[in-house]
Amino acid sequence: MVATVRFLGGAGTVTGSKFLVSSDTATVLVDVGLFQGLKALRRRNWEPFAVPAGSLDAVVLTHAHLDHCGYLPVLGREGLQAPVVATDSTLDLAALVLRDSAALQEEDAAYAARGGWSKHSPPRPLYDTADVERVLPLFHPIPFDAPWEVDGHPATVTLRPAGHILGSAVVELQLEGRSVVFSGDLGRGTHPLLEPPAPPPPCDVIVVESTYGNRRHREDPEVVLADVLDRCLGRGGVAVIPAFAVDRTEVVLMTLQRLMNDGRVPHVPVYVDSPMALGGLAVYRRAVVAGSADVRDDLVGIERTFDPGDLREVHDARDSMAINDPGYPCIIVSASGMAAGGRVVHHLKHLLPDPRNSVVLVGFQAVGTRGRSLQDGATELKMHGRYVPVRAEVATVEGFSVHADSDDLVGWLRSAPRPPEVVYLVHGEPEASAALAARVRAELGWTAVVPTHGEIVRLD
Ligand SMILES: [Zn+2]
Repeated sequence: MVATVRFLGGAGTVTGSKFLVSSDTATVLVDVGLFQGLKALRRRNWEPFAVPAGSLDAVVLTHAHLDHCGYLPVLGREGLQAPVVATDSTLDLAALVLRDSAALQEEDAAYAARGGWSKHSPPRPLYDTADVERVLPLFHPIPFDAPWEVDGHPATVTLRPAGHILGSAVVELQLEGRSVVFSGDLGRGTHPLLEPPAPPPPCDVIVVESTYGNRRHREDPEVVLADVLDRCLGRGGVAVIPAFAVDRTEVVLMTLQRLMNDGRVPHVPVYVDSPMALGGLAVYRRAVVAGSADVRDDLVGIERTFDPGDLREVHDARDSMAINDPGYPCIIVSASGMAAGGRVVHHLKHLLPDPRNSVVLVGFQAVGTRGRSLQDGATELKMHGRYVPVRAEVATVEGFSVHADSDDLVGWLRSAPRPPEVVYLVHGEPEASAALAARVRAELGWTAVVPTHGEIVRLD
């Protein structure tokens, strides 16, 4: 009996996670992520998929981030029939994330058509809303800690909390008498809402992420955040926090709640102004009220978990415009997280010229985005075709990461009840994966391998 794992993405890079596990009797795809970032990577999204989509027996999602689920609509269009298995929170969030992704790609294609620079004529998106709607009926939620049998095949999937974002899971796949564990993205154990990652179950092979395989998180985000908000609100300013719609918004709200309750930040209205962030917030609230297994026990059932005191949800675009220039101290949490687009750009346009205001960057800012320009000290910023002077205070708060650092990753592996035969380090830039592999060899004495893109290894 031959069983293999094929690394179709997330090998030597942090995006495009796709791991194809096949044997004579079953073919299961773990994660179906979109390649993002550099053009050479994004081009891979357009290549034919390794196997016919119709030949898959199951697709398992570790969590709802685009680099783990964003390629799914392509498989849907190409004839995917298999169930898409994940926790209910992951599937609820994935529906939001995929619809947003399709809308953005449709917009980009339309924009390229107007500019006339696309290589496709007419320019086309990788997938559209119809492709997304086609895969949603395949969604099949399963609970944590309950083995699920791949329909008609001798293969079993078990999900355990990964503590990264709501619904995120460590995936255990058993087939042909062998078991392989995929960490997905692992949390740090410090997420204010989520239980720490469950330890790996006994298994033969572990495929572990290595995003921060060569880094240690140090800064305490609360101290820096409290400082900058206190300063801004004290001088009568408005603080804008560009935040990723899923998870970062909730973490920021919970942190604001604690800071305000402790008197470290004055009580002011907190606006959440992003339709997608509000969609995500509804999923998070449902999970808290329902007592999802990955939510910390002491928070289960507490409906006001995300309310710092005066939470105002801005659904309507008109209401969003009304807070472009509120005229009183307040905090606006809005997407996109890198100010590349979305409602936050309108807020920046109005608020950047006033030195009383602050922009607080709480997430990674990629090169080429407005967020990165602000971080790098831009004195003017171009928005909607016009330059706006940057007189507001710009602050970066590090330490909000929901990824395990290198100590967390080694600690998680060490907590396995028995050493696996081999550990594969994925989901990392080459230096990060290599650094973690070296630590695994040196500190645990295990065989550690950084697979290459497209590599096939045997499981049996
Ligand atoms: Zn993730």
